[in-house]
Amino acid sequence: MTEGATAESESRIAAIAARLSAAHPGAPFAFLDAGEAVYWSSFQPAPHAPFSPVTRLIQGVYERHPASARSLLRHRIYTNAPLTPMCHGMIKVAAKRSAVVSSALSLPTSEIPAARELLELSAHLTSHGALPVSELARLAGLSAGPPRGHQELMDLAFRLCAPEIRSVFGHERGRPIAALLVSAEGQLLEAALNTDYGNRTLHAEVNLLQTYFLRTGLPLPLGARLYTTLKPCRMCAGMIWHCAEDIQSLKVFFGEDDPGPHGRNTALTVGTAARATAAHGDAEFRAPVEFLLPPSSSRLY
Ligand SMILES: [Zn+2]
Repeated sequence: MTEGATAESESRIAAIAARLSAAHPGAPFAFLDAGEAVYWSSFQPAPHAPFSPVTRLIQGVYERHPASARSLLRHRIYTNAPLTPMCHGMIKVAAKRSAVVSSALSLPTSEIPAARELLELSAHLTSHGALPVSELARLAGLSAGPPRGHQELMDLAFRLCAPEIRSVFGHERGRPIAALLVSAEGQLLEAALNTDYGNRTLHAEVNLLQTYFLRTGLPLPLGARLYTTLKPCRMCAGMIWHCAEDIQSLKVFFGEDDPGPHGRNTALTVGTAARATAAHGDAEFRAPVEFLLPPSSSRLY
């Protein structure tokens, strides 16, 4: 149990967990206790899926209660599912920064206390901010014929940030940030824009990863490359790490560094505490994954 929690709140949290566990046996869940109601979500684990009970709860709060999302997400999030770097990253970036997650709650098997409304709030599994790949080459004025070089792909990502392109897809609001997913053979697989002006979780990379998974059901393929105009933040880095079939074969090129707090200590950066937590074994701990690759011209965007 978390440090500083009172005995009363501990027993309340344990009671909520017991009720969820009894009502939905075998379903990993996450919840927050907002006093008048408890909001909860679940997700059955799937390898390399960009979803978990924690991500579905946070995204569900933004989806269903956009006006009160920030105050609801000040409440501590509890889960009985393993916490991955993806979960930690989304809590850091999109929920209350000081939120502490307590996993593996001990569930009393007898006398489950009743009362208190439990509202399911799992985010819908839908795509946000995705761009139709077939349209992009034409809109961005890209000449025909793969494969593309690194610089050309990075420049394409920056061109997608131009207001005239973002407005075509209704994403002119918010910070202009774009992400591309390219196969080992140089084929453009997915593209997405940042749409975090309402839902703070919807960064370009999250939109890209969730759209790609919902469309294909697949992990990021071996040898895949990501091109992002801004260095992936902690949340996006954790999700990229989680979704990669083999993180050592993935390369992430970013056009600009992110000096803000969320751009530091990410799983993709060698030598960070986040990398130490995410890595399984020495080879993953040391694997270079991300590379700075500025656009060829500032007139692209
Ligand atoms: Zn991000």
